[in-house]
Amino acid sequence: MAEQVRVRSAVDAIEEYRAGKSAPAGAFKLSSNENPYPPLPAVVAAIHDAASSVNRYPDFGAAPLIEGIAQHHDVGTDTVALGAGSVALLAQIIQVTVSGGDEVVLPWRSFEAYPILIQLSGATAVRVPLKTDHSHDLEAMANALTSRTRLVLLCSPNNPTGAVLPRTELEAFLSRVGVSTVVVLDEAYVDFVNPADRIDSLVLLRTHPNLILLRTFSKAYGLAGLRVGYAIAQPKLASTLRKAATPFGVTNLAQQAALASLSSQSDLVTRTNQLSVERDRVQTALEQSPVDSPRSHGNFVWLALGKDSEAFGEACSEAGVTVRIFGGEGVRVTIGEPEANDRFLGVAERFAATE
Ligand SMILES: *Cc1c(COP(=O)(O)O)cnc(C)c1O
Repeated sequence: MAEQVRVRSAVDAIEEYRAGKSAPAGAFKLSSNENPYPPLPAVVAAIHDAASSVNRYPDFGAAPLIEGIAQHHDVGTDTVALGAGSVALLAQIIQVTVSGGDEVVLPWRSFEAYPILIQLSGATAVRVPLKTDHSHDLEAMANALTSRTRLVLLCSPNNPTGAVLPRTELEAFLSRVGVSTVVVLDEAYVDFVNPADRIDSLVLLRTHPNLILLRTFSKAYGLAGLRVGYAIAQPKLASTLRKAATPFGVTNLAQQAALASLSSQSDLVTRTNQLSVERDRVQTALEQSPVDSPRSHGNFVWLALGKDSEAFGEACSEAGVTVRIFGGEGVRVTIGEPEANDRFLGVAERFAATE
């Protein structure tokens, strides 16, 4: 047989990441959990200013942005590691913790990128099914830990089901994980959680040297297109993550936009709160319908439609909203402009009526 291009067999087995469908003209895109609001004028101005220096590499250490993030969370600059999106940081975390034969315990269903990145490393993804209320089954996850487990992923609010981890359960879980096993708490949607349901994850860092918090500017901050996220961990682990970063991965445009966003905190919080209020409105409307839609704490809602998922997704397309279909399981719908959400709710009402 003719010689063939050879790549690692672990890579051959991976399915490509399927991004949320883009919306046709005139339709609303509610398929990628993006922020529907365009960047604030101050952020656009910062990007504009930075444009004239793209012939230069970005500031490698990104000291001003790291300083800004550290101040924002009241933590030391040595606890922060930047990445080109939090997904890049997750790839770094996997790179520094696991190799072939190791196990990574994760909840499922959760973020699509997790199993892909794990399989790329050659490690085994141990998927622990969510509970029937669509939240993490921490008891089962703790029972899934073995001597080969090098990494655990947690996602709160969970993408795509929207459930949050309660503080006491999270603390109990962390106490069952040995300190030699790294635990990631992906908080991409934390800014959409109502204050009463929010936990102070930063406090947990003090007592857990194996914990990494992941945050992003993509969702609440509306900078998905610029790719910037960060991890917070105890200094030793943060420094390890910085070693594994792609050199110059976070562009100067992204750094300046993120800095300008941190300076526009109050305007951004107003927007984020509006989206959370809008989510609660959509959620309340869904609760009146027979569709199983667990309470979501993110900027999206989950409809556990099972075999009806595809038909529902098509009905949404016909109504001018593009949603994310998880075949045979459910549909995730991002909270967008009120008009977009109303279109989607209209489909949900009609769909429920014809069931
Ligand atoms: C959107 C999302 C992210 C953010 O990824 P970025 O690379 O920062 O854009 C991270 N985790 C989860 C669970 C997400 O849904």
